[in-house]
Amino acid sequence: MHLRYSYRLCPTAGQRQALARTFGCARVVYNDALAARKQARKDGLPYPRSTDLQKLVITGAKRTAERAWLASVAVDPLIQSLRDLDTAYRNFFDSVSGKRAGRRVGLPRFKSKRDNRQSLRFTRNGFRVRGNGKLNLARIGDVRVKWSRALPADPSSVTVVLDPSGRYHVSFVVDVEPQHLAALDTEVGIDLGLTTYAVLSDGTVIDNPRFLRKAEKKLRAAQRALSRKAEGSKNRAKARRRVARAHAEVADTRTDWLHKQTTRIIRETQAVYLEDLNVRGLARTRLAKSVHDAGWSTFRRLLEEKAARYGRHVGIVGRYAPTSQVCSTCGVLDGPKPLSVRTWTCGACGTCHDRDLNAARNILAAGRADRLNACGGPVGPGVAIPRRARPVETGTHRNAGRTGRKPRAAGAAGIPVL
Ligand SMILES: [Zn+2]
Repeated sequence: MHLRYSYRLCPTAGQRQALARTFGCARVVYNDALAARKQARKDGLPYPRSTDLQKLVITGAKRTAERAWLASVAVDPLIQSLRDLDTAYRNFFDSVSGKRAGRRVGLPRFKSKRDNRQSLRFTRNGFRVRGNGKLNLARIGDVRVKWSRALPADPSSVTVVLDPSGRYHVSFVVDVEPQHLAALDTEVGIDLGLTTYAVLSDGTVIDNPRFLRKAEKKLRAAQRALSRKAEGSKNRAKARRRVARAHAEVADTRTDWLHKQTTRIIRETQAVYLEDLNVRGLARTRLAKSVHDAGWSTFRRLLEEKAARYGRHVGIVGRYAPTSQVCSTCGVLDGPKPLSVRTWTCGACGTCHDRDLNAARNILAAGRADRLNACGGPVGPGVAIPRRARPVETGTHRNAGRTGRKPRAAGAAGIPVL
């Protein structure tokens, strides 16, 4: 399976310049190729093939006066940039033809110097990890990497990213064997919420850390400072980076916390069941900020990735199961309850329920039932591999398909393809 390993990159001033030049060239190549495809379509010509495009916008362009500077950077990231365009087109065509599930993917768009995130990809031809721990990138040099953990195997490609707060990251794609942990007989249902982050059917409560809410004061101050700076000034650019950095800090803390929580759950549990929440729908409501702050999609993605890696199971229960209305003891549908009702007593059997714990127990029962229907057996390790890390970036639509996916059955054979 493919996994991504990310690290901070610390380029020198000279290397930052070389990277900036390469970001620029990769963007120009991408945009030229996109323009050529658009023109071909306008002229009623057949869809240009990537090999022809490569000759046109890289090899050929280098020989022209206005694109001669393309020769000053490594060719590998330029070719990868064209691959990204191909992927973006493929995603679009698959989305139109219905081959691709989830939200509609639009036509690829032109990239801009002002895009929030700049990235480059190098394949095996373009990078090497040196014995001294530095990362050699073609035509950039030996760049220092903060190795926060060891790479488990030889990486097949590396992506260099410059984020809006001005930080550089590298992420390596590594092909590793899944390391199945010893099988357990524990199963839990998880009810995600905003009051408490999660309640597990075994009674464990995970408090909501509310990272965004806690940092709001600082974020507002940074935002206010930005709004006072003159349009187009250097100070404004600096203030913008400061806002971006403050947001990045919140995001990092959240991701770190999510990693810890999901690792613990996957280690201790053989099968985890979650409700399929309509995160995108909720994010349009009054709760948007809190929903965003909770990072439910990331929570689920991390659980699924870790389950695949360690031989555990993650099952998703349908979005429309009335998990908070049914009594988990006797199964009677007790009717809808407003969010303010934290505890209730079942009218049929008289059990007093904590709202979230009852929901978690129902999710566990529904997940178990789904699973038994799907494979008719007990929970074994590594039966379902929910999703693999994608080996390459998918063009311009980085986040397409990540959210708002159609609800799907996660059974033994239910291996969704991205
Ligand atoms: Zn009952």
